[in-house]
Formats: sequence, C-alpha cells, structure tokens
Amino acid sequence: MGLENYKNFLDILNQDLDAMFEHQKDYIFCKEGCSHCCEYGEYPFTEIEFNYLMIGYNNLDNKTKEIINNNIKNLQKDENGYYICPFLINRKCSVYANRGIVCRTFGLLNKEADGKVNGPFCGKLGLNYSNVYDKETKELLMDVIEENQYKNLPRVFSLDITNIRKLDLVKELGIEFGVQKPLDEWLKEYAE
Ligand code: SF4
Ligand code: SF4
Repeated sequence: MGLENYKNFLDILNQDLDAMFEHQKDYIFCKEGCSHCCEYGEYPFTEIEFNYLMIGYNNLDNKTKEIINNNIKNLQKDENGYYICPFLINRKCSVYANRGIVCRTFGLLNKEADGKVNGPFCGKLGLNYSNVYDKETKELLMDVIEENQYKNLPRVFSLDITNIRKLDLVKELGIEFGVQKPLDEWLKEYAE
C-alpha cells in the first residue's frame, strides 16, 4: 500500500520535473549516455526510495543482477565518500523507472539550506548551467543572461529531499519516507 502511493507520488513528481527541465532547457545539456551524475555521488536514499529501487533490481534478469552485485562488491569510495553508483551499466541506469528522487531532480539549480544557489557539479564539465552559472562563486552570470535573452530566466528550485518530504501531496498520500542514508549503506544492510 505504501509503495503504491509512493508510485502515484512519483508519477506526479515526474510530470512536474519534466515541466521544470523543459522550462530550463536553454541551460540543460543532459543527453543519453551522459552519466557523470551517476559516477560521482553519495546518492542519499530514504527507506521508501530504497525499497522501491530494489523492486526494480529484483525484476532484472540474472545477468544484469550479477553485474550489479559485482559493482557493489568492488565499490570504491573516494576521500569525499563519493563513488560510482553500482546500478550504472554501460552509462545507463539499469533501474531507471525505480531510481531515487535525487536521481530525478539532479541537473537543475537548487536552493541550499543556507539559501545559496547550488548548480549541478556537471556545470564544471561544461554541462548544465555552465553557460550562466559560476560554480566557484555560486552566482548566476546576470550579464551573460541579459546579453543572450534566453526564453526563460534560470530558475532556482527547492528540490532537496527535505523540502520534498514537506510537500502537501506527501501528506495527502500518507507517504512515510523513513530514514535517509547513502545508497552504499543501504546496500550493505541489504546484503547482511
Ligand atoms: S545532470 Fe549533468 S551529468 Fe547528469 S545527465 Fe545531465 S548533463 Fe549529464
Ligand atoms: S540509481 Fe540509476 S539514476 Fe540513480 S545514481 Fe544510480 S545509476 Fe544513476
């Protein structure tokens, strides 16, 4: 029942996110085969997100599961605790329909808890918002924006899971997200 409601919630969230990405398309460089955002992260998942992700995993064929299990076994974290997501295979998400909220929202401008604008790190690689946002100063390049007369101005969204959990829709659907942990910790527990 909980997961059914969560699926309904995701359907609505996806529609909203599609509209956000469309609105910001002058600044978005996402395309198939681009997977930097799945290659460097902590991937915070709440309990319900992780359970939903594992439904996707359980529906995969054995060969794909084996690749993922090997990725989990060989998972290496860097000094920041970042790693390649083990569900990434040949630069594609193997559990795309069941991916987490952070996977769905990544790529847009986001407001941090301190109110600062946070652009996706792929901006440093010349990708999302690299044309209008300075990742070092965390500021929008207003002169460039004015010069280029983009159809829509860059918009900063409140897409942190903390904010998403507070949405009225979450209350209406009675969704309990549960505790939040990095994906590798969930996977470790799952394997025990
Ligand atoms: S968010 Fe950035 S890294 Fe991820 S697919 Fe889009 S452009 Fe590529
Ligand atoms: S679950 Fe899929 S979309 Fe999310 S980080 Fe992993 S590979 Fe990327």
